[in-house]
Amino acid sequence: MKTSEILHAWAGILAGRKPSLSIEITKECPLRCPGCYAFDAAHLGGETELRQLSDFKGDELVQKILAIVDRERPLHVSIVGGDPLVRYRELEKILPALEERGIFTQVVTSAFRVIPAEWQRFKRLTVAVSIDGLQPEHDERRKPATYERILKTTADAKITIHSTITGNIAARPGYLEEFVRFWSEQPQVHRIWFSLFTPQIGATGPEILTQEQRAYVVEDLHRLRALFPKLQMPERLVDEIAHPPASPKDCIFARTTHTISADLKTKITPCQFGGEPDCSQCGCMASMALAAVGHYRVVGPLTAGHLYFASDKIGNAWREMMHVFSPERVEVDSTSPFNIIGNSAN
Ligand code: SF4
Ligand code: SF4
Repeated sequence: MKTSEILHAWAGILAGRKPSLSIEITKECPLRCPGCYAFDAAHLGGETELRQLSDFKGDELVQKILAIVDRERPLHVSIVGGDPLVRYRELEKILPALEERGIFTQVVTSAFRVIPAEWQRFKRLTVAVSIDGLQPEHDERRKPATYERILKTTADAKITIHSTITGNIAARPGYLEEFVRFWSEQPQVHRIWFSLFTPQIGATGPEILTQEQRAYVVEDLHRLRALFPKLQMPERLVDEIAHPPASPKDCIFARTTHTISADLKTKITPCQFGGEPDCSQCGCMASMALAAVGHYRVVGPLTAGHLYFASDKIGNAWREMMHVFSPERVEVDSTSPFNIIGNSAN
């Protein structure tokens, strides 16, 4: 990302905007993965569930998505679901429009359907394919998007493998290495990422990692990243897995990402997991990546996180002020915190 784009993001934060947008573009998915947070009863806060929302199709979906993007002006858009490839015709229109706007885009899919080779022309697009462990475990959980099918549907694409490590996987020494070796050998795989399973508060079950398993995974990822160049998880990011943010208010990812569900109205809070995620056991790679950026020392003890939280406070104060001044009473460019300073000086 260029300096000008970072400054643009910062100006947006100062204006009370979030630089990242995540949209569940459909409630439909041909899979029924156990542990899927999108279809969990708590995902939308408990009053309604993803499958009960009305979603959109065709040009209406395309226009509504682009209207949200033009209003929010994010730097990064994550397109999730359900499975976004259910709406592949609409994606054929949405992706070029996002590319034209210079927006970094990520499509997260099970790759149950072919990922077009032509999508490689989008320089700012990441296609992240979710894989749940080695073939026996994955095929059991994710049929019909089995290993065999994914190898065919992605053969002409350029993909990022994203896998969520559960307690079951972490308990098996050598498992991660076998996984990384297999996917590193596939020519269509550009890079490999891992998250750790993030439970809801109070949840129990074998998918949740123990503290010992979490420590083992951190050690193993450090070892593997040195052996497999496609495992693109920087050292700082891996270190963050050992001490996740204490709460959503401490999570830069949650605070910088606006997450919208399939009716394009319902907000998902506090982060993409919805419900009440247990931040103390979070293993979301995006959260860890931004935590690593937040802990970066800018000058002396001053970190990028200190600057962000200060900026965010200013941005929120700015947004509140905009509600005080009705549009009839004062005309301002709501995207710029500096205009009101100009107005005051006048
Ligand atoms: S593919 Fe994704 S959205 Fe669909 S059931 Fe599986 S985890 Fe949930
Ligand atoms: S991404 Fe993780 S740390 Fe951030 S709010 Fe969600 S669960 Fe908490």
